[in-house]
Amino acid sequence: MLRARDITKSFGPHLVLSGVSLDVKRGEVVCIIGPSGSGKSTFLRCLNFLEVPDAGGVWVDGERVACQEIDGVLWELPARVFARQRASIGMVFQRFNLFSNLTAEENVSLALRLVKRLPRSEARDIARAVLASVGLERFIHHRPSQLSGGQQQRVAIARAVAMEPKVLLFDEPTSALDPELVHEVLSVMTGLAGTGMTMVVVTHEIGFAREVSDRVVFMDGGGIVEQGVSGEVLANPSEPRTKAFLSKIK
Ligand code: ADP
Ligand code: MG
Repeated sequence: MLRARDITKSFGPHLVLSGVSLDVKRGEVVCIIGPSGSGKSTFLRCLNFLEVPDAGGVWVDGERVACQEIDGVLWELPARVFARQRASIGMVFQRFNLFSNLTAEENVSLALRLVKRLPRSEARDIARAVLASVGLERFIHHRPSQLSGGQQQRVAIARAVAMEPKVLLFDEPTSALDPELVHEVLSVMTGLAGTGMTMVVVTHEIGFAREVSDRVVFMDGGGIVEQGVSGEVLANPSEPRTKAFLSKIK
């Protein structure tokens, strides 16, 4: 479903990702863990081209994102094709990134109208249905400032899900939340995993990683140090750096 090959990214002289590769199967839930500054966010952002990798490629369902190789030469894809590809890779951010001047329903329906070109009424109906599915049917007309952090993050998840992405990326979706609000967001994510959504989740929630994800990937220093079946990597890491990291956050 999703394939990243040798993703490399520097900011100025600072090499942040040194050839990171990852394959995610349809319906698989992969958690990425690792210390702050290890390149987790940059890697996620490269997957959907919020950051353009310096080298390497991303494929969704076998189709290369952003460019096309013809006779060994890479060509940029037309903007409309690139837009469709990016819409197939949803993203949920740590700080929700909702439009503060729009209601929950408008936040969810905006991309449906602008990117998918759905008529207003159809976009509204989908927005309402998806907001209901994350338990927010009573809050569709609320603006972000009238919602708790957990509710805002559920709007952000609904906004991503409404686009029917092939894969959904989460960048520390619960790190900005008060502890008592973490559960409601994790439970929406668990439900989503249960529907067969393909998910890549950067998180420090080890319980979620253990119980919900199929695979855990440990990143450090701009690369993948270790990965494997969640239960095994978390209970019995083989790399000293993974052990050291897990002993600190558990
Ligand atoms: P993580 O999400 O694992 O904490 P990040 O991907 O956010 O790590 O950051 C990895 C490194 O890249 C950090 O040293 C960070 O300072 C640097 N970095 C991230 N984004 C930028 C940017 N836009 N410009 C310059 N440096 C950046
Ligand atoms: Mg980060």
